Amino acid sequence: MVMHNSRLFLLDAGEGTQFQLQRYKIRIRNLDAVFISHLHGDHVFGLPGLLTSMSIYGRTDALTVVGPPGIRQYIEFQFKLSDTQLRFALHFTELPLPPRGQLAPAFENRWLSVSCFGLKHRIDCLGYRFDEKPKLPRLDAEKAGALGIPKEYYHLLKQGNTITLADGSVVHPHQVLGQPEPPYSYAYCTDTRYLPEVVTAVQGSSVLYHEATFLHQMLKRAEETGHSTAHQAGQLAQAAGVGHLLIGHFSARYPGLQPLLDEARAVFPHTSLAQEGRVFDIPYQATEHPTPVADFNLPPNLV
Ligand SMILES: [Zn+2]
Repeated sequence: MVMHNSRLFLLDAGEGTQFQLQRYKIRIRNLDAVFISHLHGDHVFGLPGLLTSMSIYGRTDALTVVGPPGIRQYIEFQFKLSDTQLRFALHFTELPLPPRGQLAPAFENRWLSVSCFGLKHRIDCLGYRFDEKPKLPRLDAEKAGALGIPKEYYHLLKQGNTITLADGSVVHPHQVLGQPEPPYSYAYCTDTRYLPEVVTAVQGSSVLYHEATFLHQMLKRAEETGHSTAHQAGQLAQAAGVGHLLIGHFSARYPGLQPLLDEARAVFPHTSLAQEGRVFDIPYQATEHPTPVADFNLPPNLV
């Protein structure tokens, strides 16, 4: 789940998604869009139930579902056979895989642009990249206060307007404005074999989520099943010059995850485990390992 300006964006919906959302007290009515990477069950079986529950609990705001071709048919077929009518509109955006290494527009709101790119899995699979749009410059409230500027003028100044105060004095934007905060970005890659072209698509992102299903000693199995190793996730993060790497989608064969984390960190030190219930803030110092802001009871295999 990505949260930006209190709006929520869900990335994939495996079975049980709605129960996990309840468990972690996520305010689901703020969900604006769902992004599906591919149509394997562990990424999509949770969606029909989640949509139905949102309707039962009274949602009326439209929701966008973005995914590879087939996502619309998958949902509509289930709803048709089960005679399900949602109380809110579903808008589908079906996206064919862009050519390797290229980004294509996937979604946009006032603050964010989301693009998609192609991954390499056993079926068509999309990665997503969230980029903040350029922000307005920061206003120095102390300087503005000293000049006697009322708060209702702040926004006009931030937008670059020169203003005239009640006493006739004129204030130019450069007198009170500083540099805007840099835009941050988040890229999401699952499920995929190691694909060098992805480096271009996720280049310089503040945080990269990359699957790390296996340890590198299982490379052959990773290649056969269309997955990556923790070592490869680290390699990709290194090559793309990202700020921080989150690894996830671990094979159930690993009772503890430390070896996967160690393997990725040996290549790319700024790596963390994307475990259920963990919250990561962007931005943070690239040298610091983000810590969960809330601790939940993790299932025993994740402790
Ligand atoms: Zn898959």
